[in-house]
Amino acid sequence: MDLKKYIADIPDFPEPGVIFRDVTPLLANKDAYQESIRLISEFAKDKKVDVIVGPEARGFLFGCPVALALHCGFVPVRKPGKLPREVISQSYDLEYGSNEIQMHSDSIQAGQNVLVVDDLLATGGTVEAAITLIEKMGGNVVGTAFLIELEALKGRELLKDYDVFSVLKY
Ligand code: AMP
Repeated sequence: MDLKKYIADIPDFPEPGVIFRDVTPLLANKDAYQESIRLISEFAKDKKVDVIVGPEARGFLFGCPVALALHCGFVPVRKPGKLPREVISQSYDLEYGSNEIQMHSDSIQAGQNVLVVDDLLATGGTVEAAITLIEKMGGNVVGTAFLIELEALKGRELLKDYDVFSVLKY
């Protein structure tokens, strides 16, 4: 199945020079969405994953169905001010701008096997920041998985100590 045909390429969004890869047509197609989740779950099926970690908001759209497919838990990574209990925070650089992420400070148990799932790997800054938080809590990152990888931005090099899987490469 040619999943790339369900990704809309939007030049100069949200700012000049960025080609935004819009996954909403893929999400809207029952076969393309299911196939995407199947491929990510297949990558992770022998990794003994206890919990999936996904950054808001598109990381939820891919992370949660993979968690159901693997029968494991899901833990959200959120922007500041969204989580109601005690959090730990990490700053990071994005392809456009910079940001900070938070996780509940008790969301990962020491020794748990964690798979990080997001829609897209660009610089890798978001997932690197999430990994920092997961490891601070004692989690064991067994891999990272993305629908899309923007190879020119070399996120895979930033995540070189981890098993990186992507369904589609640009
Ligand atoms: P990064 O931290 O640089 O790997 O950026 C990854 C996050 O930013 C992903 O969660 C994407 O949702 C978003 N993102 C970055 N670049 C793009 C892009 N060209 N198209 C769509 N989303 C992007």
